[in-house]
Amino acid sequence: MRDIIQIYINGEFVTPHGTELFDLHNPVDAEVIGRVRLGDAQDARIAIAAAKGAFKSWSRSPKPERIALLHRLHEVVWAKKNELIEAIVQEFGAPATRAYWMASSAANSFLDAARALEKYDLIRKVGTADVVMEPVGVVGLITPWNSNVGFICNKLAYTLAAGCTAVIKPSEMSATQTQVLLEALHEACAPAGVFNIVNGRGDIVGAELTTNPDIAKISFTGSTPVGKSILREAAATLKRVTLELGGKSPTIILDDADFDKAIPTALQVGLGNSGQACLNGTRIFVPASRKDEAIASIKKHFASVQAGEPLAPDTTIGPMVSQAQYERVQRYIKLGLDTGATLVAGGEGHPEGLGGYFVRPTIFADVSNDMAIAQEEIFGPVLCVLTYEDEAEAIRMANDTPYGLYAYVLSANEERATKVAMQLDAGRVAINGAAHDPDVPFGGFKQSGIGREYGVFGLQSYFEPKALLGAVL
Ligand code: NAD
Repeated sequence: MRDIIQIYINGEFVTPHGTELFDLHNPVDAEVIGRVRLGDAQDARIAIAAAKGAFKSWSRSPKPERIALLHRLHEVVWAKKNELIEAIVQEFGAPATRAYWMASSAANSFLDAARALEKYDLIRKVGTADVVMEPVGVVGLITPWNSNVGFICNKLAYTLAAGCTAVIKPSEMSATQTQVLLEALHEACAPAGVFNIVNGRGDIVGAELTTNPDIAKISFTGSTPVGKSILREAAATLKRVTLELGGKSPTIILDDADFDKAIPTALQVGLGNSGQACLNGTRIFVPASRKDEAIASIKKHFASVQAGEPLAPDTTIGPMVSQAQYERVQRYIKLGLDTGATLVAGGEGHPEGLGGYFVRPTIFADVSNDMAIAQEEIFGPVLCVLTYEDEAEAIRMANDTPYGLYAYVLSANEERATKVAMQLDAGRVAINGAAHDPDVPFGGFKQSGIGREYGVFGLQSYFEPKALLGAVL
């Protein structure tokens, strides 16, 4: 049992004013592994005041000072990598290789932001003016449970790089990871108040950040419904917003693809992070003329999809994060069956020999694009296979969704795949399994969000341009 009873304000671990206790579970067996004491609106207000105080000098700090802090933050988080991996596995149930990636990329995001800042002109000449890029102010950072440490580090890195200060509201379900991370961040000896962390509920601490007039910007990663409510609430004080929301991303397998290459990639991007990733390619489009071949190939390659204990070497799918998430996935699998889709693999209930929040990785065929399982974000390892007659129909169906976060195109001909990619409504399109690049903008079209994170586009979103006319600099 690990009890987390403090939050972090103005460079110190402090006992929150809030008294509510929230249970933390190991998703492998649903056992309670700890409790977190949640902050309340008063704690959020104290943290905002600390960040506002720290903004006065941090906003004027020179580039080298910011870059030096980002390098220190990288070092301290990297040094705690193994503890972080342990916490991610225990609290979230990520398979070991995924947990390793999560912890490493979290640490590396400070270097990514430092690199972006180094190249970024804080003052530039535009026409007759000098344009000064001013940090926007105190930023509220709100993160989900599916990669909590990664989102905290990425958002915090670019916040600090821009000269802003932060109040972070992490997912209340990820308090163990947050605590390990916080102990690391504290060791970087950042100026007091430049970042503050308040564990708490979304509708209490999150809501205070969203409405408080001293918060200039919200950077939120989470579900589309909550993102919309944040946008509405933030309008009252005209906060800047970056919203990274849900997805229902298409994977288009073109008719020239080698299925022995394309299908493993489609399964990997569809089921990564145990299906609990916003960018999963959950709608797989295959040519109608090769449907039987595609299904046979999926069955063959599905043998390597293995639900199991996160630390077992052959595990690729861990448990869902919570009972609520387990039930949500069950509901959608039942809905798929009830609406006439055909099971290619998986189905309802737990995988054999596993309990807790494990679900059976599931693939449906005979899915039409208007079915709920093809339109709504499930956020679990449930994939739909859809067929198309020609390239134009594949593109039309791929774009026929309220979301537009990511898309994947698989083909033997990269020029042809590129032409298809150009016609897809998505913030990122990966051709033939191209890997994530942390310098490249990330974010959604349509209801997948507003704005971009990562690299220079991410950094840019923390500035207000101020044009000085007739100035002598
Ligand atoms: P969620 O929207 O329920 O919660 C996200 C965060 O918002 C949590 O910290 C929560 O406490 C807080 N919150 C809840 N209500 C709030 C309110 N009224 N005001 C302010 N904050 C509030 O999402 P989740 O279930 O934690 O995460 C899963 C969702 O996140 C999925 O929809 C997924 O697609 C999305 N996601 C998007 C991205 C992306 O980059 N686009 C990445 C990861 C996850």
